[in-house]
This record gives sequence, C-alpha cells and structure tokens, in this order.
Amino acid sequence: MPGQRADVKELKARLDMISIISRYVTLVKSGTGYKAKCPFHKDDTPSMTVSAEKGLWHCFGCGEGGDVIGFVMKIERLSFIEVVRRLAEEVGLSFEAADDGARDELKSLMADVANAFARNLRSDAGEKARDYLISRGYPESCWLKYGLGYAMPGWDHIKRTFSRRGEDVLLKLGLLVQGDKGTYDRFRDRTIFPILDLSGRPVGFGGRTFDGDPKYLNSPQTPLFDKGRLMYGISWARDRMSETRAAVLVEGYTDVLSLHQAGITHAVGSMGTSLTQGQADLLKRFVEDVVICYDQDAAGSAASLRGMQILYNSGLGVRVAQLPAGEDPDGYVRTHGAEAMQAILDEALPFHRFFIESLKARHDVTTIRGKEHLLEDAREFYGSVRSAALREEIDRQIADLIGLSVESVRRELPRRPRARDPEEPIHEPAMHWGVEEHLLALVLRGQISWEKIAFEVSADDFSEANRPIARRLASGMTDLSELIGDLDEEGARRASYYALAPLEIDVDQTIEDAKRWMGQLPAIEKRLKELDPMIKRSATAEDWELWDRLAREKAELRIAWRRAKDATGEGIHEQQSQEGRSEIEAS
Ligand SMILES: [Zn+2]
Repeated sequence: MPGQRADVKELKARLDMISIISRYVTLVKSGTGYKAKCPFHKDDTPSMTVSAEKGLWHCFGCGEGGDVIGFVMKIERLSFIEVVRRLAEEVGLSFEAADDGARDELKSLMADVANAFARNLRSDAGEKARDYLISRGYPESCWLKYGLGYAMPGWDHIKRTFSRRGEDVLLKLGLLVQGDKGTYDRFRDRTIFPILDLSGRPVGFGGRTFDGDPKYLNSPQTPLFDKGRLMYGISWARDRMSETRAAVLVEGYTDVLSLHQAGITHAVGSMGTSLTQGQADLLKRFVEDVVICYDQDAAGSAASLRGMQILYNSGLGVRVAQLPAGEDPDGYVRTHGAEAMQAILDEALPFHRFFIESLKARHDVTTIRGKEHLLEDAREFYGSVRSAALREEIDRQIADLIGLSVESVRRELPRRPRARDPEEPIHEPAMHWGVEEHLLALVLRGQISWEKIAFEVSADDFSEANRPIARRLASGMTDLSELIGDLDEEGARRASYYALAPLEIDVDQTIEDAKRWMGQLPAIEKRLKELDPMIKRSATAEDWELWDRLAREKAELRIAWRRAKDATGEGIHEQQSQEGRSEIEAS
C-alpha cells in the first residue's frame, strides 16, 4: 500500500547501504562503486557489485541482486517486514505498517480460538479426538507442543464463545461460514491442527473428521492465512532447516507430526501436492536441498511433478524419496521406525532420475507410440533443465530406456535456445541480452526516458519475465530503489542486473530494434501457451496427424520467438539488408 511504501522509501534514504553490507562482506572500492566476494555462492573472484549511488547490488556470478533490504533478507533469512523493522530501529524510525495493529488483533483472536480448541480436547467431549491422537502415536505430552485441539460438534460453539468479537471478524478469519440461514462454525467435530506462521502464531487451522468427507478441511484464504506462502510446521522446523540447509517435504499434517516425533525435525508440510512458487521462496530462505517424501501413489502425479519443477527451477537441490507402494510417511515411520525412515530419505533419487523412473512407469516403451509419448512427456521437463551436464545425462538415460541412439534422442528433445525460454527464470550469470533487456537497461540507467520509447512500445509488448519492470517504468516509477522494492525477488534480480551490468548499449540501435521487433513477442507467447495443452490432448487422443502439425507449428513459433527476442541475431541481418535495398532503390 502507498503509505507503507513511502515509509520504506524514507527508511532506505536514511540507511547507509555500504556500512550495512560491509558487516557481512569485505567491500573493495572499484570505480564509482564497490566490489565484494559474493556471500550467496562460492565466489573466488569478487563477482558482486554494490552501487550506493543507485542503491543496488548485483552478483554477476550467481545472478542474485536487489536493494539493501533484499540483501539483509537473503543473508539473514528474514522476511521483508522483519528486516524493515530491524533496520528501522537502527536508524531510530518506528516502522509500523498501516494495518499492523489490526493484524496483531486478528492474530491474538486466532490464538484465543486455538486455545479454545485445545481446551475442548481435554474436555469430556474431546475423548474421541484424544483416542484418535493417542492411537496415531501423539501422546498427551506433545499436544501442547503442536497446539492440537478439538472442534466441538454442533453449529455454533466458536460463534457463541467469541460472539463479542463480532461475526464479521470471525467470518473474515474463516472460522464461520455464511449459510442461507445465517452463519455457523466451519470446524465441527474435528481434530484440529493449528497452522502456524514463521514465528509460531496460529494463522489457520486444519481439521480432520472422524468419518465422512472431506477427511481434511482447511481454513480458507484469509488476511492472515495464505496457503501458497506457508508450510505446515515451518516454525518448528526452521532452526533445524537452517542448521542442515535441508528440508524434508511431506504432504499432510500427520506426516509432519510423525516425522518430528521420530526426530526428523526439518520436515514441513506442503498441505497438498501442488506446491507454489511462494512456498519454494519460503523454503529457499532456509535451505539449499529438499527431499520430497510424498505418498507413493501421489508422487508421480502431474501436480507433484510440477511442484518439484518449481523447487528445482528455484535453484534448490531436489531429491525424491521412494516409499513402498501404498505407504505414506506417517504410516511408514510409525510402523517401521525412525531409522528405516531415515534410510528411505538417504536413498532419495535426484529429481531427474526420479523423473526418468516415472516416465518408465507411465509409458509402455515396447511400442513405438509409447516411445513417442514418452519423448513428448520428457520435453516438458527437459526444456527447464539449465545444466548441460544434466541434459547429457538425461539424453543418455532416455536413450537407454527406449533403445534409441543418444543422437536420435538429442534430435527429439529441444536444444538449449540461444535466447532464454519464455518460461525459464534467470539465475544464470550469462543471461541473454536481447532488445528488451537493452531497452530496460537504458531506462533503468537513466540514459533514455520511458517517454522516449512510449510511442513505439508499451509495457504489454514485453515478454512476461520483463513485463513487471516495464509496467512500473511506464507508470512513471523512476526511482530505482522504489522500483526494486516494489518488484518480487525475480524482478529485483533482473532490474539490478540491467542497471549494473558493465555493458555499453547503443541507444539508437536499441530503439530501432525495438520498433522493428517488439510487440510480436506477446502474440507468439500466447499462441505457444495455447499449443502445449493442444499437443498434449492430441497425443492422448493418439491423433498423430494433428500432433505432428501442432508440434511443427510450435517449433516454428519457437524460432520466430527467438528471432523476435534476439536483437543480435537474424533480425539485425534482415534489417540491414533491407536498408541496403532501400538505399539502392533510392539511388
Ligand atoms: Zn553470487
């Protein structure tokens, strides 16, 4: 919100970026800025540049970058608000986000509700839930630790108990549901698992029924509870996660509790198999490696593979543990013990190996169709692999699997494009510079104003990855530090890179290129996005004629995309020869 942003802006103006960063790394003066060995990757040469004048830092080794708040967030593994509070205190500012008071009040109400659930568990009515918990291996001694509770049967226990807080607040927190004849308790006759935020305060609840459906019921999205940015058990696991730089990722509440009970205390729950980028970002603050341990039946599903890919693309090491068929982590650790569970975790397969195993399980490689399906399936994943060594390895394994030569497999799978794929996030140091990047860099460095190009291009002409930066520039946000603060982590990385990269950019050439090539990208990207599901559907329907046509269109569009994106490629060539022609014609 604007009020909060203004406060952060003032805070940044008062902070001495150089002295703060030099608490963590040794800064050496270099030109108008400073250089340092980057603390975020193994850096032998000083790859990190810090510009106090611009209020930015960027590492040209690993691609991390941003403003001073982002730096402290990264190195101290704190949230934005935690860093802002801490730094504000240092310079004698009191920083309170406008709605902080209200949030605090909501959180204390949630804590009261959690206490009420905990009391219910110990009441006469709670016997069923107590029996259930004890039978699952959660004795009374751990109820308090995990905040376990019981929601009374009937429609209005919470509603009556907290009536003086107001129905609208209880609704807002997802504790009540609006029905035709008024509001009623969301959680009724269920065992309650409070979902805690990073600092251990309840922000939502999961409730397990004793019979009937759905087996688990969660709090809905509320001002406090954002399921996509939270993991179950994160407050209990964070210390161990920081220590080991690793996490064990499971699905359910009881999976987390059983692993913690068994001493595997860096386990967190994704609350479902479909992971979000927000959850990956949260994990990244604490760990480098994640071992995924899902129910064996769910692990190979499309949703769970997508989640693993999100983690992988966020730069985390991803391994997948393989439980025996029909087992889940909770049941397995209870019947076989901590040691057996640990052995399963130790033997987890690297993501790409797991992926190949799941390809094997999904396709019949004794038939031609099966091989074609498998290759089409593999394409999806392959396009997102950044490491050349890993791609080689996958080529080899797939070749083995389907009995083709490595060369043929290579022909079938997409090569690494010269320009980045539209979906591919940047973490790599050698990022491709095309016309968009040149254009943004020029504006971010103040070499041209947005107005100068506004007649030629609009923010919507930029590819998805750069659009957030373009939109902010187009809206008149010229203050670099404000702009960076307004972007997400990926956006900040890009913007700091464009602003600080030591690269001479030809202004006139860039504007010429922009006029010629931009605006084609969004249309191409839109069609590419449409094509993927169509290709999949045609493969499922075994309509190979259609499949072939669509696959060909996709390949052509990819070439067009690269051409439009790549100002130094064929685009320039064509343009020059055309200009040559018009000169001849004119003479
Ligand atoms: Zn670095």
